[in-house]
Amino acid sequence: MSREAQIPAALDVAPDNAVPASSNPHPGHAAAALPHAPRLALPEAVVARQLRWEYALPIGLVHLAALLACLPWLFTWAGLLLFVLGVPLFGQGINLCYHRLLAHRSFSVPPWFEHLLVILAICSLEDTPIRWVTTHRLHHVRSDEQRDPHSPLVSFFWGHVGWLLFLNRDTHSLTAFQTYARDLAGDRFYRRLESVPWLSLAIYVAHALLLAAAGAGMMLLAGGDRNAAVQMGLSVLVWGVLLRTVAVWHVTWSVNSLTHLFGYRSYDTSDNSRNNWLVGLLGSGEGWHNNHHHDPTSATVQHRWWEIDLTYYAIRLLAAVGLAKEIVPRREQRAAARS
Ligand SMILES: [Zn+2]
Ligand SMILES: [Zn+2]
Repeated sequence: MSREAQIPAALDVAPDNAVPASSNPHPGHAAAALPHAPRLALPEAVVARQLRWEYALPIGLVHLAALLACLPWLFTWAGLLLFVLGVPLFGQGINLCYHRLLAHRSFSVPPWFEHLLVILAICSLEDTPIRWVTTHRLHHVRSDEQRDPHSPLVSFFWGHVGWLLFLNRDTHSLTAFQTYARDLAGDRFYRRLESVPWLSLAIYVAHALLLAAAGAGMMLLAGGDRNAAVQMGLSVLVWGVLLRTVAVWHVTWSVNSLTHLFGYRSYDTSDNSRNNWLVGLLGSGEGWHNNHHHDPTSATVQHRWWEIDLTYYAIRLLAAVGLAKEIVPRREQRAAARS
């Protein structure tokens, strides 16, 4: 299925024939900040009295449980290694799969592999594919306007995590799913994830138990006693799952908050997006967010040699082994190819 057929035309937020996003003639030099970035009111569709317990509880509980990492007894080098490697690896479920593959269709993969990547994404407990994509596409359509579901121009806290905690009728309704994620709603796997509310949580818990059991099993195989195995299993659970989940959350949330407030602007986009080196580094390239808003369709956000985009390198790696196809190049290359 072509990309055009997958993404409703009205939602193709940066069609190739769009007016070029008024490129800064001196990218990287002029700060190109908006003349004023006014404070925004909460989106009108937000019901501020309606806390979403199904989000607030897991977010609170996982944060609290991750604090167990402060206990010296739960520290192991294996747990630390799993944390350090797990953030970029499991983060790809969000960056590569939810964002560039599902939300923007910047490349394509076979359906079975796409579903496998979605399961990897669910291991970061960020939302179902249909909900994540609905929110993100609305963000691009209404970026830093009042209807933006998570603009930090309301407040830093709102843009970072507050938006997750309250009902927003613009993003949490069947109409919204049909409007912004119609292509995904046509997939039985994604509909099932949507219709069975506990399925995502079950996948997350299953992967956590599996990793913890693998850690304990490895310790037993290495000759450790039962106490050492329990310690290793819990260390993997706390460092390799809970703390990693919290880190991936904050990296993703920082793309919504920090990169719409702090950093440099290479392009005069109509929003307040920024290129932020810290989020670029921690988020495997997702922090080059002004580049992304300038050209959301492109598979790469690396516009300079030092704007390292690990997510794009992962897409190229998938292409090298025959799994990724139809990789969308940058707007300039698309225009050159047409002329
Ligand atoms: Zn943005
Ligand atoms: Zn995007």
